[in-house]
Amino acid sequence: MDEAQVRREIRGWVGANWDPALPLVEWRRRLVRSGWAVPSWPSRWFGRDLPAWADGVAAGEVLACGAVGLPVGVGAWLAAPTVLTHGPDAVRERFLWPVLTGEETWCQLFSEPGAGSDLAGLSTRAELDGDEWVVNGQKVWNTSAHHADLGMLVARTDWDVPKHDGLTYFALPMRQPGVEVRPLRQMNNHASFNEVFLTDARLPRDHVVGAVGDGWRAALTTLAFERRFGATARPQYGGTGRALEEARAEAEEHFAVYRWYPQRAGRPDLLVEHARVAGAAADPVVRQQTARALAAQRAGGWTAERARAARALGGAPGSEGSIGKLATSVVARQAAAAHAAIAGAAAMLAGADGPLGGVVSEILVSVPAQSIAGGTDEIQRNIIGEKALGLPREPSADRGRPFREVPRNS
Ligand SMILES: Cc1cc2nc3c(=O)[nH]c(=O)nc-3n(C[C@H](O)[C@H](O)[C@H](O)COP(=O)(O)OP(=O)(O)OC[C@H]3O[C@@H](n4cnc5c(N)ncnc54)[C@H](O)[C@@H]3O)c2cc1C
Repeated sequence: MDEAQVRREIRGWVGANWDPALPLVEWRRRLVRSGWAVPSWPSRWFGRDLPAWADGVAAGEVLACGAVGLPVGVGAWLAAPTVLTHGPDAVRERFLWPVLTGEETWCQLFSEPGAGSDLAGLSTRAELDGDEWVVNGQKVWNTSAHHADLGMLVARTDWDVPKHDGLTYFALPMRQPGVEVRPLRQMNNHASFNEVFLTDARLPRDHVVGAVGDGWRAALTTLAFERRFGATARPQYGGTGRALEEARAEAEEHFAVYRWYPQRAGRPDLLVEHARVAGAAADPVVRQQTARALAAQRAGGWTAERARAARALGGAPGSEGSIGKLATSVVARQAAAAHAAIAGAAAMLAGADGPLGGVVSEILVSVPAQSIAGGTDEIQRNIIGEKALGLPREPSADRGRPFREVPRNS
């Protein structure tokens, strides 16, 4: 089936099935059952066995028809493809349907106080107790953990093998007494993240994504999708009807914690306007900095298009994700510097009477997060060096040693 046929079929299907008066979940069940929610997936798992490009085409057509697509959030963007890739079937059976219909939401429980870049050095432990795993430890920087139903949890299940080999990837039910979620306040005054304390948290024995001890591979899949997607754009739903109202409310709740994400990206889109209103558009330094940021943004956009094209041809996410992620950091920093040059000392004024209604000061305190979230710039450079350029691997003191013997902070 070529792209034009896919577009025609979706339009026909949506025309015959979309009913904005439906409850949102009912509509999504229809969409998922039809195979048009994720057409590149196998037909056994709610897809249509089409090439990867069909997902973007289908999503765009559904929206263009005025209907609602997949749920927003890391459930559909990260957990679902990880579960699909690694299975096993019982886990696909249990988790794929409700994540695609939006009946269950997810958060990512990877980072720990002692394990961020060195994620494989994490020490949250999971131990089998009869038919359940019992989990103890602490996670941190967990976006949206305060309203998630499930957590993508990576925990250590074997301490006597090298660090990457002793990890297991779980689907952890968040709403239970053993899971305590505490919000964190950031320097930009938003509170997107949480600390998550796990104290004898329990989950069924078979809620393992992939296999016991093979969690690192599944975690890499999640991270590759995270680099590829970054912060996904908010869908705009017009019109009236129950499904649309519920979709708007869902997006409102989900994107509330991401309100500052546009500022995190440096707002290169506001540079020209900012320079104009500040009367700095003729300043040669401002012009140079603005041009540099916008050129970097354009080059980053092309890199992202190349990555999309590779994916459309069926390629697995690879180092172009790291290159794209690095590019967003560069653009964010250059744009922030240009905004600061335009505003001068006034850039430090927060609140409605600051430049651009306070947006500029929010940019300055939000941009550092761009180079940290989803893997820091230095880590992306290591990946590019090792995976794309074939440079020697980073020296490591713990390679091959049982994790129990690796020196670490207590
Ligand atoms: C906006 C945002 C959202 C996030 N959301 C989530 C989430 O939902 N779930 C989740 O689990 N986590 C989340 N995180 C956490 C994020 O994944 C970690 O902050 C990140 O992996 C870095 O880990 P760290 O903070 O422990 O820094 P560290 O790993 O301690 O790094 C500190 C510094 O050392 C450098 N460094 C470390 N190792 C190397 C090396 N080998 N070579 C060169 N330099 C090195 C780093 O680049 C960095 O500059 C989020 C973070 C941000 C900012």
